[in-house]
Amino acid sequence: MSDIAGSLLQLKSEIPKHVELVAVSKFHPITALEDAYAAGQRIFGESRVQELLQKIPQLPSDIRWHFIGHLQTNKVRQIIGKTWLIESADSEKLIDLIDRESSRAAVTTRILMQIHVAAEETKFGFSPEELLDFFRRGKYKDLKATRICGVMGMATNTDDERRIREDFHHIYSLYHQISSDYGNELVDFKIVSMGMSDDWKIAVEEGSNMIRIGSRIFGSRRY
Ligand SMILES: *Cc1c(COP(=O)(O)O)cnc(C)c1O
Repeated sequence: MSDIAGSLLQLKSEIPKHVELVAVSKFHPITALEDAYAAGQRIFGESRVQELLQKIPQLPSDIRWHFIGHLQTNKVRQIIGKTWLIESADSEKLIDLIDRESSRAAVTTRILMQIHVAAEETKFGFSPEELLDFFRRGKYKDLKATRICGVMGMATNTDDERRIREDFHHIYSLYHQISSDYGNELVDFKIVSMGMSDDWKIAVEEGSNMIRIGSRIFGSRRY
């Protein structure tokens, strides 16, 4: 068995059944993805449009590709119709564009709204206020070819477990609030994507049902 298959199976044995595993394969070669595929993995996450578009035709078509990186507006058209889920819908402008391009291509695009609660200022995403405002204004009703399937977020990059837990709790509580207030209209609003290699256990304890794991499966990345 390859190291990748071994890590993957080990990880899967630790993850509760209701939690979906996204294997984050960014910066890793096709052979690495093939190993994971052979071990049964079907959900892969990529963070760069060019890399995603290169990989898709080289791998089996039953893979569900998740886009998890910052999506530049000038690249939206290129990936519409190619992904199972865009996890990183990080601004209203981007969502409008995704919706427009999806209509134009006559497809429906599934998205998660990326929430920013971490201490770092460089991360993209809706602030909690912007997120709630988006729903209060009924903005979601304007979308014609986009389905909002939940939220995605990251915790602060720190060793302080309390802060990490707080961040995940915050993301989950925003999800819960929106789900309670608008769930009747947003029938697909079910996914809470949070947790990476170093913090996924805390994320799952705080309500995550989708984790995005890279290095723990594929080893470290070369940037
Ligand atoms: C790279 C990345 C991950 C995976 O990170 P690991 O620490 O390698 O597990 C998860 N989510 C996002 C958004 C990423 O960019």
